[in-house]
Amino acid sequence: MKALQHYIGGCWVGPVAPGSTYPVINPASEEQVAEIQMASAADVDLAVAAAVLAFPAFATAPLAERLDSLRRIKAIFVRRFDEMVHAITTEMGAPLDLSRKSQAAAGPDHIDATIVAAGNLDWETRMGESNVVYEPIGVCGLITPWNWPINQIMAKVAPALAAGCTVVLKPSEQAPLSAQLVAEFIDEARLPAGVFNLVHGSGPTVGHAMSAHPHIDMMSFTGSTRAGVDVARTAADSIKRVTQELGGKSPNIVFADSDLEKAITESVRRCFNNTGQSCNAPTRLLVEDTVYDAAAQLAARLAESTPVGDPASPGRHLGPLASRMQFDKVQKCIEMGIAEGARLIAGGLGRPTGFARGFYARPTVFADVHNQMQIAREEIFGPVLCLMRFKALDEAVAHAHEHLDPSHPRP
Ligand code: NAP
Repeated sequence: MKALQHYIGGCWVGPVAPGSTYPVINPASEEQVAEIQMASAADVDLAVAAAVLAFPAFATAPLAERLDSLRRIKAIFVRRFDEMVHAITTEMGAPLDLSRKSQAAAGPDHIDATIVAAGNLDWETRMGESNVVYEPIGVCGLITPWNWPINQIMAKVAPALAAGCTVVLKPSEQAPLSAQLVAEFIDEARLPAGVFNLVHGSGPTVGHAMSAHPHIDMMSFTGSTRAGVDVARTAADSIKRVTQELGGKSPNIVFADSDLEKAITESVRRCFNNTGQSCNAPTRLLVEDTVYDAAAQLAARLAESTPVGDPASPGRHLGPLASRMQFDKVQKCIEMGIAEGARLIAGGLGRPTGFARGFYARPTVFADVHNQMQIAREEIFGPVLCLMRFKALDEAVAHAHEHLDPSHPRP
């Protein structure tokens, strides 16, 4: 079994004070495939010290050198692409085809896009009497979730390095295999020691220590709204810059004059993509009254015929949810929808037929959901679609926005 280490100052290291380990579980088999040694605030201190030390030279290196570093990382990524595909499938259950075409592919894509953007940027411009110079901020603390692990990591790491920042990355403890590979790629690409550092550990310990750290200049966080609030609050004391991408409950509005079959098929497919574990999944489907019943029938049929299968097999099926915690949460949400009186028209509680193990959920559709129900408000993060009815455009728009209005009383 693989024991993952931290990558600090260009070296693979264990934690300063060896303590607890965290099992990495394959969600399809429920078997342990690796373990991480959980870091503490002391390991964060070491990683930040390495990043601080590396910053002056890296920040002042010519842009061309930094972009060359990115090109080397990309070449290694492309050569070891299959390893990345399998790592993502193993750690969070994305089926191989999805992992290959989207999840892992996002890595080289972000590097390419960064190289183009950095090449096109006017790093120094004149604005009236002023000279505006874009400079690297300093040490960036990057915290990423498990649902699109490489997409999130590369969308942060590549621009930070292109800008001349040094980084400390804390990936999700549930999806550390892909992050470990990124560190291996960067190690192989011979970036200066300390430019990129990886610390494995929990959000409340390692993530919190990063947000509070006086020598981290910026936090870039992607994850739940709950954790985002903690990052922003904690970072405030040292007046860090903070960027966040948080949770979502996106509405999708379907009007009577649309191509109903196409609109509903696309909605269901997008909602269930990545087993419903995407921040931008359109999980609330608002349908105009006159076509509502037809849309509900169609959505139920599509959900019932959505294949679920082993992520290690090729094909366009849904894989398991990423973890037992996520499985339990989705089951609770389905229970909640039933208790709240939403009409279950496809799927429901438990695993799909034929699955005795693995964190597989049934593609589920609730009809007759309204905004006072918790399932219309909570981010479920599973293959669960909520159908809502509207009669007029302004009602649809009001429903769509209502969820986003923080002043709206929650049930
Ligand atoms: P999460 O529990 O918030 O975790 C995200 C990351 O934050 C993990 O690395 C986590 O560490 C860490 N973390 C947790 N508590 C923290 C704290 N107090 N301080 C600092 N870091 C902390 O979210 P998740 O369940 O992994 O990811 C799913 C969420 O991410 C969903 O809400 C989804 O919508 C959101 N998301 C948003 C976007 C977007 O672009 N808007 C993209 C993808 C995902 P550990 O889990 O390792 O302990």
